Amino acid sequence: PPPAPDAVAKALHDVFGFSGFRGVQQQVVDRVLHGRSTLAIMPTGAGKSLTYQLPAVLLQGTCVVVSPLIALMHDQLRSARANGIRAATLTSADTDRGQTMDAFRAGELDLLYIAPERASQPHFRELLSSARVGLFAIDEAHCVSEWGHDFRPDYRLLRPLLDAFPNVPRLALTATADHHTRSDILAQLGIPEEGLIVAGFDRPNIRYAIRPRENAMRQLKAIVEENPGPGIVYAPTRARVEQLAESLASATGRRVLPYHAGLDPDVRARNQAAFVASEDMVMVATVAFGMGIDKPDVRFVAHAGIPKSIEAYYQETGRAGRDGDPSVAVMLWGAEDFARARQRLSEIEPHRQQSERQRLDALAGLVETADCRRAVLLRHFGEDPPHNCGNCDNCLEPVGVVDVTDLARKLLSA
Ligand code: ADP
Ligand code: MG
Repeated sequence: PPPAPDAVAKALHDVFGFSGFRGVQQQVVDRVLHGRSTLAIMPTGAGKSLTYQLPAVLLQGTCVVVSPLIALMHDQLRSARANGIRAATLTSADTDRGQTMDAFRAGELDLLYIAPERASQPHFRELLSSARVGLFAIDEAHCVSEWGHDFRPDYRLLRPLLDAFPNVPRLALTATADHHTRSDILAQLGIPEEGLIVAGFDRPNIRYAIRPRENAMRQLKAIVEENPGPGIVYAPTRARVEQLAESLASATGRRVLPYHAGLDPDVRARNQAAFVASEDMVMVATVAFGMGIDKPDVRFVAHAGIPKSIEAYYQETGRAGRDGDPSVAVMLWGAEDFARARQRLSEIEPHRQQSERQRLDALAGLVETADCRRAVLLRHFGEDPPHNCGNCDNCLEPVGVVDVTDLARKLLSA
């Protein structure tokens, strides 16, 4: 039988230090505690981890968590252990695997984090059979879908493993919510449609603006100068990151650091730590920066070029204002961004081209709209928003519809 409501509230308070659930967390936790498989779509920062960590503490048996990145696992491990939760990772990087497996078999773990590729290893399935698993949590579950923006073939290996334990509920978690990806996750992971829970996606404290790029440096300098708090500038390439970081530092006098996958891991970790601790720093970064970073007071996110999709835009801009205070998201776009993206389409596998083209078209729709940006965003995520949010460029400074779409058409078809 599921734990009593007051036991749940007590664990929420005693283990995590929270006075209540946020948004759909309670709904998700309830389902999971009743043994029902669930797909929870919750925006970044909404508190997805809690929805499996709390059941992990309350349920009999260990919660096995699939996570795509070792760095993410280690962040989770640290915060879980800080709350006194018995957690471990089982990855090729761990030297204490024997100990971890013993603890798992002995029922001494609440949480066990694994990478998806482990799921296909026969001896891992044996390990699970020799232990007691209470829940499978699949984090960043959009990785299972080719429609998603982050397809990881290894996630496809999960299904046979999950099916081998039909009595263990599955909880899939993601911030990616377009309809294709959603139904694909349900199908790929064998979760019934009634198990879908979607949180509200609106981030009312973020002011959206999307502008044609005229002089990127001048525009970015103005954004940085207007926003004294911490901010992130996303740039499309490593070279552009380096270059913008340098120019912005000298043009604004702000502390500006670069972040991209080509930097030495030590430098990367140092720059990230400096940013998290700072109250006024600017991070110029590729999209390698941001996943799993818990900094509530980011005041602005600027895109120096177009993101990959509306989902990526939402996720990247969503790193602003997690504390609920006013924040801005500004995208600077150029026709050449779309031209290059279309060019890249022709280089990918034919069967993925159609979905990628749709993603690009949806993004173009957001860029060229003269309507409320928030309305377009939220409709994309299946919500039915009001027509005018009062907190985006198009609502605040409406321009002649004809002008905008004409300009956009011209630029987009270039
Ligand atoms: P997500 O994975 O959805 O992006 P996280 O699980 O990393 O989000 O949680 C984001 C932040 O919200 C964390 O700092 C977490 O401690 C906090 N948080 C989660 N649930 C609650 C809650 N019920 N009350 C207060 N803070 C919460
Ligand atoms: Mg998360």
